[in-house]
Parts: sequence; structure tokens; C-alpha cells
Amino acid sequence: MKIHEYQAKQILKKYGIPIQDGVVIDSIDDIASAIEEVSREFSATQYVIKAQVHAGGRGKGGGVKFSPSKEKAIENAKAILGMTLVTPQTSAEGQKVRKIMVAEAIDIAKEFYVAITLDRAVSKNVVMVSTEGGMEIEEVAAHSPEKIIRTWIEPGFGLQGFQARHLAYSLGFEGDALKQAIKLLMNLYKCYEEMDASIVEVNPLVLTAQGNVLALDGKFNFDSNALYRHPDVVEMRDVHEEDPTEVEASKFNLNYIKLDGNVGCMVNGAGLAMATMDIIQLKGGEPANFLDVGGGANVETVKNGFRIILSDHNVKAVLINIFGGIVRCDRVANGIIQAVKELELNVPVVVRLEGTNADIAKKLLNESGVAIIGADSIADAAEKVVAAAKEGK
Ligand code: GDP
Ligand code: MN
Repeated sequence: MKIHEYQAKQILKKYGIPIQDGVVIDSIDDIASAIEEVSREFSATQYVIKAQVHAGGRGKGGGVKFSPSKEKAIENAKAILGMTLVTPQTSAEGQKVRKIMVAEAIDIAKEFYVAITLDRAVSKNVVMVSTEGGMEIEEVAAHSPEKIIRTWIEPGFGLQGFQARHLAYSLGFEGDALKQAIKLLMNLYKCYEEMDASIVEVNPLVLTAQGNVLALDGKFNFDSNALYRHPDVVEMRDVHEEDPTEVEASKFNLNYIKLDGNVGCMVNGAGLAMATMDIIQLKGGEPANFLDVGGGANVETVKNGFRIILSDHNVKAVLINIFGGIVRCDRVANGIIQAVKELELNVPVVVRLEGTNADIAKKLLNESGVAIIGADSIADAAEKVVAAAKEGK
């Protein structure tokens, strides 16, 4: 789960990390009072208007605007609030800006990059820093990876003082700024661990002209399996930033992820779902989604899954691949029949049911009169659905 910059900064602040602060508004009517508050609270005379969307690269898309005066801040706020922001990280259609942060402008001497995440290859957290912070960090990672310094953390020990000092030295910090940077890194690691984050990224971390170190931006991604421990984080969820079909699926406890292809998939079990997506690709097709309806699939889950798959207009054919273990195939078949009757299908559906009561299920499907293409094996099913999707184009 992701959150907005202003929410990330609230968390960082709680962990004693200095931030570029500001006030968030969702209506342009509040801009004058927001500017007054930022001027008063943070002694600001210059401002930055920052679009609050989950996608990064806002600066490049025109969603972050330096404003040297109150008048300029109002002008930029009017332009950014409500705009559809397209950045290298949004879809081509972009993301509507529903909130902006009116931030104090910082006089920046230098920009750095800091991030912490799990390095799965070595099963350790890794702290990454670079002197090349700012808007081009993806370029740096792609073309000069040696400019990113990494330190791996022993599980159970946490970030050690010597490691934080090494990282801060590597960035070239000196004197009091060095002390500040070390403290910031220690706090950031503590925050990452305690919040059950899967990523925390501060880009840029800045050295100000006055010699202070602070977080100018903040990004978190949280491990959704640990969210039950963080009700305050769950409250930060902004469904406007998520794919509407994924939000709908989460209401029914369906594991659904939208993809770019045209073959809709309904499968039970994450492993089988992955295998199904693989075999669709092997047969020359592209899956439109990942959907695991879970072990306890019933008529309702099948129906909801179907409805969600069909609401994606890219879907040209659907493959239902269910293994009846705990869930009996005849129950799934009944769900499919009901769903097809209620939902007015306009794309071909290939069904492969295997396992408990598969024979009863086949009979039910055959006798139901609904237009379903039966399949005997996973390979057969994949071939049939890929062919059907190609015809449907
Ligand atoms: P992102 O593009 O979505 O990562 O948004 P950021 O919050 O990182 O802002 C993008 C860029 O805007 C930063 O890398 C800075 O160069 C610039 N910027 C943001 N706030 C300030 C500020 O207070 N002062 C100055 N001089 N530049 C800023
Ligand atoms: Mn940034």
C-alpha cells in the first residue's frame, strides 16, 4: 500500500526526521489561509506548490512548482489543483490532482538520494544512498549504478552506527551536517522497520544553504500483510489513487491485479494463477489480469470475479481454470452458469474444471445451455482462449 508525500512526511516527522513542511489543501478556497499558515508556522516567504499523487516524477510532469511570492503561489496552486498530472510513473491518461501541499521553499545546496528496502537476493534489508539525488535517479541507476552506495543490514541487529557513519561520509557530509545525516539515517531505518515498510525513499534528501539536512520528499510502500498492525496507516489509504477494478476486487477479498493483455483469467490459488498466466503467454496470448478467487470459491465469488474481469474493456476472452480441491467443481460450475446468465456475456469463455466432482460439473455446464467452450487440459484451455481472444479483436 502506498501513501501521499504529505502523509509520508507526517510519519518521518514522528521519527524525528526534519522535513520540508507545509499545509495540505483540497480546495482552492483555502489557498490564502494555507499560505498565511505556512508563512507563520515555518517563517516562509517563498513557497513550493506540490501535487499530491502517489506516482513519482511529479516535478517532471509540472506538478511541483517553486513560487517566489504569495501571488505566484496562488497562481501555481490554481494551475495544479484539479489538473490531470502525467508523469513518467502515471498511466498515459494521468492522475487527477485532488490535493496539493503548500510547502515552505528550501534553499538547496545539494540533493542526495536515500532509500531502504528488502534485498530479496540476500534476504537482508539494504540501505542505498547516492550523491546524485533529485529527478534523475532512474537514469543514474540505469547508466552509472556505481554511484549508488549500498549497505546491507544484519537481520536482528539493525543499522549500526558505523554503517550510518560510512554512508554519511560517502555522501561527503562534513561537520554538523555529517552528524545530522547520521542521525537521520538511524531514525529512517528505525522508522522503516517499525512501520513494516517494504520501501522508504527520500529523494531528494537535501543539504540546505544554511547547512542543515532534511527530507524534501518522502515515499513509503507498506507490506500489506502487516497492515493489521498499523491502523493509522490503513487510514491513510486513498482509493482515488488505485485502479478502480482492484479496489472493487478488494471489497470481495479477491486477489486481483490488472494487467495489459486481453485474456481475462479466473483461477483459484496464486500458484495456479501464475502457471495459467505463463501458459497463456506460452500459447501466444497476453493475460488481462491476475485473479485468485481463493480456496473457498462459491457462487458469489465466481460471480464477482466475473463481473470485475468483464468490466475491463480490453478483455476479449475469459479463461476459467479451477482446480476443485476444497471447493467442489459442481459448485464452481453453478456459479459460472448463474454468472453467465445474469451478466450478459459478450466474450467467449473457456472453462477448465478439474478435481473433485469434475464430471458432475461438466454435465452441469453442458446441460445449462450457456455458451461456454469446454477444455480438457490446461494446455488445451490456453490454446482455445488465446485463439478466441484473437478472433474477438
Ligand atoms: P517528485 O518529482 O515527485 O520526486 O517531487 P519532489 O518533491 O522530489 O520535487 C521535485 C524537485 O523539485 C526536487 O528534486 C527539487 O529539485 C525541486 N524542489 C522541491 N521543493 C523545493 C524547494 O523547496 N526548493 C527548491 N529549490 N527546489 C525544490
Ligand atoms: Mn522526489
